[in-house]
Amino acid sequence: MLALLAPAAVAAACLTQGAKLDVEVGRRALPWLPPDLARQVVKHEREFAAGAAAAARLPAASHRAGGGVEAAILRQSESLAQAIRNRVPFGEVVAGLGTLAHLVTDLESPFPATATGDPSGRAFASYARSAQPRIPLVFYGQPARLLTGQLASFEPVLAARGQSAVRLGPLVAEDLARLGGAQAWQRLDDRSTTFGVASIVLNRAASNFANLASWVWYHAGGLVPALPTQPREFLVWKGEARPREITRNAQPVTPNGESQGARLSLR
Ligand SMILES: [Zn+2]
Repeated sequence: MLALLAPAAVAAACLTQGAKLDVEVGRRALPWLPPDLARQVVKHEREFAAGAAAAARLPAASHRAGGGVEAAILRQSESLAQAIRNRVPFGEVVAGLGTLAHLVTDLESPFPATATGDPSGRAFASYARSAQPRIPLVFYGQPARLLTGQLASFEPVLAARGQSAVRLGPLVAEDLARLGGAQAWQRLDDRSTTFGVASIVLNRAASNFANLASWVWYHAGGLVPALPTQPREFLVWKGEARPREITRNAQPVTPNGESQGARLSLR
């Protein structure tokens, strides 16, 4: 599916509105991606955005949690690992990663994609775009067993993410109703519930994207250094989002996750 040559299907009104939030999810994932892969994403920034925009050509069901986005995410991850193993040029691989970022962001959408979109959903997307420079970069953890295991192990995890994401929609709708409706989104401030929801959506999407891309990189034979996270901990990145430096004593991620890196927690 890397090339996405299918004719345009009925467009789904996705959260990301013209790929801007997909690009933001990719940017937020940079510190958590395997550094060699992160550098390719930076180098092929335009291809990433083009791949994210091309996701609009996928059938409407592929954009909906519980309806097909989970399967589309797994298919795209498998195709990407295969493409890297087959030495497909990196520009094309990064375009495929842009498509993956779009799908992962759809999965985290608090408003299910419909043909016309939900007014609260559109308001939320506009607010998330305006608030994103003020939302900290948070990583929800590197599940070592998932990254090094079978792709199918992601299935229940993705299903659970989609189910929790839609529970956030009513909170945003309530927040907007208090201000007089969806058209009043510009009056939302950074202490609002909606700010918290935007933070969860963007950082969850970026974490899942980084972890799926790490699965891809690991299964294509690349080095995935272990990140120092423990269960129920998260990491916060200070400063500009950019690829991590690989330290000389970097420990690769291992199936049991008990690398030295994991013990040297940043708490
Ligand atoms: Zn979509």
